[in-house]
Amino acid sequence: MNVYVSVDMEGITGITHGDMMMSGQPEYNRGRKLMTEDANAAVEGIQQAGAEYILVNDSHGPMRNMFFEDMHEAAHLITGSGDAKPHCQLEAADSREFDCAVFVGYHAMARTWEAIHPHTIAGAVVSELRINGRPHGETGLNAAVLASLGIPTVMVTGDTTTVAEAEAFLGSKIKTVAVKESRGRNAAICRPPSATRPEITRAAKEAVENRSNVELYVPGRPQTIEVDFNNMQQADRAGRTAGVEQTGPLSINIEGTHFWNQYQVLWAALRSALYEPAVWLQ
Ligand SMILES: [Zn+2]
Repeated sequence: MNVYVSVDMEGITGITHGDMMMSGQPEYNRGRKLMTEDANAAVEGIQQAGAEYILVNDSHGPMRNMFFEDMHEAAHLITGSGDAKPHCQLEAADSREFDCAVFVGYHAMARTWEAIHPHTIAGAVVSELRINGRPHGETGLNAAVLASLGIPTVMVTGDTTTVAEAEAFLGSKIKTVAVKESRGRNAAICRPPSATRPEITRAAKEAVENRSNVELYVPGRPQTIEVDFNNMQQADRAGRTAGVEQTGPLSINIEGTHFWNQYQVLWAALRSALYEPAVWLQ
C-alpha cells in the first residue's frame, strides 16, 4: 500500500503567526520543528495501518521547511523549490499508484472568517478560486485533483475552521483532527503537541485502514477552474499562460476534463502572477 501526504504549515499544532511560517522570521525554526513533528505523527499512524511506501510533500511557501534529518524513517520527503514542482502541493502524486492521501497542517480557503491565515494557494495574488462556480480552498481543490488520479483523501488536520471546511467538501467519513480552535487570523486556542500528536497518529491509522469507505471527491465533469486575482497586473500575467483564458480584468478560466492537467496550468499561471518585474523597468 502506498500513501501520499501533503503537509502545509498554517494548520500545524501551535502555529498561529507568520513569524513561525516564513524564512528569516525569528520563530521560523520552531515552526519547522512543529511541522516536521505533526507530519511524523501522521506517518507513524500510516505505517501502523500497513503502508509500505509513504511519500511526504513539503507543501508550504519555500517548500524546504521540514527538517529532513528528523523525519520518520518510513517517510520519503519531497523537498525543494516550488518552481521545480509543476504540481506544487501534489507533486509526484502520479509517480506510482497511491491508495489514499492525507493532508496535514492545512488551512481554510481565502475569505474565510476566524481562521489561521486563510488563503487559497497564494494569498498575495488569489482573491477567490472557484470550481464550477463554487469557491474552493486547497483542501477541496487538492482532493479533487487527487480524485482525478483515483486517490481518495481520507484525512485532514488543521484548525477548527479548516476541519469544518474539509467535512463540508469531503463528507463526514474522512478523519479530521482539529489541533487548535481558531480565534482569528493570528490567534487560536492551542492544544500542546503531547495532546495532538497521539491523536494525529490514531486518526491517520484509522483513516488509512478505512480508506475504502471514503468516496472520491468529484465536483463535476467537465470542470472549470476560475480564479479572481487581487489586481489587474496579476490577472494579465496569469492570462498569458498556455491553457488559460482571461475572462475579465481580474479573472481567468482554466477549462478541461482532467484536473491533474488543469492543476499544472493553474500553478504555472499563479507563479506567473506572483512574478514582479524589476523595479527599474516599471
Ligand atoms: Zn502554507
